[in-house]
Amino acid sequence: MNFYASWVFRCPRWIYFKLKFPRSERVNPGIKQVGDLGEKIALKFLKKNYEIHPTRKRTISFRQFKVTGKPDFRVLGENGFEVVEVKKVSVLRKFPKKRWIAQLNLYLKMEGLDEGFLLEISGNRIRRTRWKFNQGLFRNSLRFYSRIYEELRNGRIPNGKVGECLNCGFKEFCREFNFN
Ligand code: SF4
Repeated sequence: MNFYASWVFRCPRWIYFKLKFPRSERVNPGIKQVGDLGEKIALKFLKKNYEIHPTRKRTISFRQFKVTGKPDFRVLGENGFEVVEVKKVSVLRKFPKKRWIAQLNLYLKMEGLDEGFLLEISGNRIRRTRWKFNQGLFRNSLRFYSRIYEELRNGRIPNGKVGECLNCGFKEFCREFNFN
């Protein structure tokens, strides 16, 4: 079974739907456009201070499942190579979401790097937060995937996670699913 790094700490039921019913997802095209715009702004920002290097899809394999991912950017600056994950947001939160940090942490593991940063972009504002590889967070991330793997293996449908439904591409499907 293959999970993606970007799925870490997301709604477990959403992950179940992604794996079993990917064609039932209704992706809002606006969300993709916003993501692309975020990457464009990030690229302009990064080019001022870093050499930009290509990123590659990488996989970490475990006994029962794999985790695959590709960071948005891999840059070379005065701290050596770092990976960068970009998040385009409407409003800057007080702190970046834990799942974004965990996603970046997985990329650090995949790239064998010690440090990377998140770029949160809101309008003209760009916030850069630097994160070191965290072994504890990595273990928790694997536990998260492992729990989902076990539920699926035992034929159970994972519970949903409150608070992520508003922009969920499976919102309608999930509602119908609950009624059936
Ligand atoms: S609608 Fe909510 S509970 Fe259902 S899959 Fe989406 S995020 Fe999870």
